[in-house]
Amino acid sequence: MRWDGQTLDSEQVDALPGLARLSNLIRSVRTPEFDGIVFHEIAAKSALNKVGSSSVVPFTWTINPYRGCSHACVYCFARPSHQYLELDAGRDFDTQLIVKANVVEVLQRELSRPSWTREHVALGTNTDPYQRAEGRYRLMPGIIAALADSGTPFSILTKGSLLRRDLPLLADAATRVPVDLAMSIAVFDDDLQQTLEPGTPTSAARLATVTAAAEAGFDVAVFMMPVLPYLTDGTEHLDAALARIKAAGATSVTYSALHLRPGVKEWYARWLNTFRPELTPRYRALYGDGSYAPKRYRQELAARIKPLIRAHGLDRAAVDHNTGGAASSASEPARTEVRRAEARDPDGEWRRAPSASALVERELTRTRPAGAEHARTRLDGADRLF
Ligand code: SF4
Repeated sequence: MRWDGQTLDSEQVDALPGLARLSNLIRSVRTPEFDGIVFHEIAAKSALNKVGSSSVVPFTWTINPYRGCSHACVYCFARPSHQYLELDAGRDFDTQLIVKANVVEVLQRELSRPSWTREHVALGTNTDPYQRAEGRYRLMPGIIAALADSGTPFSILTKGSLLRRDLPLLADAATRVPVDLAMSIAVFDDDLQQTLEPGTPTSAARLATVTAAAEAGFDVAVFMMPVLPYLTDGTEHLDAALARIKAAGATSVTYSALHLRPGVKEWYARWLNTFRPELTPRYRALYGDGSYAPKRYRQELAARIKPLIRAHGLDRAAVDHNTGGAASSASEPARTEVRRAEARDPDGEWRRAPSASALVERELTRTRPAGAEHARTRLDGADRLF
């Protein structure tokens, strides 16, 4: 493999003390195609994760082939999960990516156990399975095939236009098991999107992916999550966004207001102070005391967005009673159409991401205290910025 020559020297792992303790770390690699990113390939012991019994989510099992996410959304709720390896919830989450290199093999083993009851499995609940790394590691085709072959229904939530690559596979899987697809698109202002979600495909690329999935026969849900107070919650933005979602062929929309748990709040506060400092007092009023926007804000948002969702005909999804998600199916003519579209799709929207990422980096560097250690930047005390 062409990355062999770029494996980090084992002497360098002391830069990553938590990772160095991983007994199942195979190697850490860099590649020029992923500037600034280090992939830590591990031999995972398990692929299926059981969701805690106290969780309210409508599924019991998840698969996360990657930990950390180069989509780098400032508001990402999964950021604190990186701290278990003594990596920080900020830049490390975006650039130090754990890859479960053997996830397909382990999953096949787990799914073949007589005790496996074929409960619904959710992908994309923690980090994005179609982040850019998937273009190199190609773990999802094996995961999709393993789930479909074992008769296991599943769902995928992503921001990645790379999903298009696997639509023929997914359409085939949907003839055997329920498959639900959802695309996350929260920001429809391109300038805002480039600073808030610097590693993601554009909203246009994601909408095009929605269209391709709809043409493949899927009822695609769009998650407008999170709606950002004073940035994306205006009636005009919401109305225009919903019109584009409808035109793309989505079936339904789900939304929620920004949630800023500890570990995320600090990172978001830093972004806000850099790019929209005039909003800091208003955010302090909303999030100064907690992680959730106050009830009154959420009620006002609901009063604005719910009539719009209804007006655009995006309030009803056909519910699959096995999964609790939007029911999906894929007909043979639609699959043929997808294969044609796949052959045409240049998937080139990704190329915008590095410059946006560089913009964020430049801004944060400019505002970083002199002598601060970037890779280990902890944002302790940033809560006070709100
Ligand atoms: S795509 Fe999802 S998992 Fe990845 S950074 Fe954004 S919110 Fe987090």
